[in-house]
Amino acid sequence: MSTRKIIDSHLHISKWGEKDFISCFDEYCQRHNLHAINICAIPLNQTNVCNNIILGFYKLLRPDTYIHGGIELIKIPIDNMPSNMDAPTQYKELMEIGFDGIKMLEGKPTEHKRIGKNLNHPSLNKLYIEIERDGTHLLMHVNDPDEFWDVERAPDWAVKAGWTYTDGTYAPYEEIQRQTIKIMEDHPNISLTLAHFFFCSKEPKLLEDLFEKYPNFCVDLTAGGEMYVEFERNYDFYKDFFNKYSNRLIFGTDHSYMCDEKYSDWLFNVVTTFIGTDKTVKSFDDKMLKGLGLPKEKVDNIFFKNFENRVGKEPKPINKKKFKEYIEKYSFALSKDDLGKITPLVEKYL
Ligand SMILES: [Zn+2]
Repeated sequence: MSTRKIIDSHLHISKWGEKDFISCFDEYCQRHNLHAINICAIPLNQTNVCNNIILGFYKLLRPDTYIHGGIELIKIPIDNMPSNMDAPTQYKELMEIGFDGIKMLEGKPTEHKRIGKNLNHPSLNKLYIEIERDGTHLLMHVNDPDEFWDVERAPDWAVKAGWTYTDGTYAPYEEIQRQTIKIMEDHPNISLTLAHFFFCSKEPKLLEDLFEKYPNFCVDLTAGGEMYVEFERNYDFYKDFFNKYSNRLIFGTDHSYMCDEKYSDWLFNVVTTFIGTDKTVKSFDDKMLKGLGLPKEKVDNIFFKNFENRVGKEPKPINKKKFKEYIEKYSFALSKDDLGKITPLVEKYL
């Protein structure tokens, strides 16, 4: 068990699950002695509205948890969002409820295609303006490993998940990357963290350029196992890189509720050993990955300080009245099944 202060900045509850979802990360936090966790909306198994509501209840009952909410894209493609539910309005509502930041999955190739292949759409741009102005933390998943665009190199598990982009209907890797950088060009002070190292472990120079240009830009260290294979291959380079940019790198695991316990503990151990020690550990390619041996203050940056500096030293409280109003306003976006789960929670807790 770790004795260090660690915040897992990137977790999900992507479905209701079988057991009580409110306690789903309790054991995980205890096993690793975590200081705090941040749970993010991810609309893969339900709507963002439903996921936001799950997170709201989670935080109401576990007030030491950070949460990042998602914007419900009421109209797809996103040209005609009704003005009382456009992205800035929803953003304001989430902030009033007590969300600590915003999570966007709109740059993952499958979602990117669904929203009309444009991360710089005017209705999203309005959202970035407000987020930049408020200094709110925005965590975005954009792109995927570049091999997912290549039939020969795409791994079996990605093919099975439907995450291969070779049929010509998806934007190319480079295009999604370009649109993401444009967000920073247009909003140079935005507090933006790109998940999974921006899938740039093979082109770290790009990250270095972006770190130099944009003072509030970070990447998180959630696997992508391919990242850790690159870290191992270019160990000396990355040792310097982690030393130099420890104030731009954020620890997280990307575990989801219902994730296999053995796998989640293995992953936690690989990443924390690499960042927090100089010991070796068996990595994603079954080869040995050596820990970076960083000084304590740099490990602290990655394990919790960068996150706290961007999101806050304490999670915000839930405003029950605003939360209840949100549920009523967006109940049209919920399935009958979801409403069946949510109604008793409203009656009991709000
Ligand atoms: Zn994630």
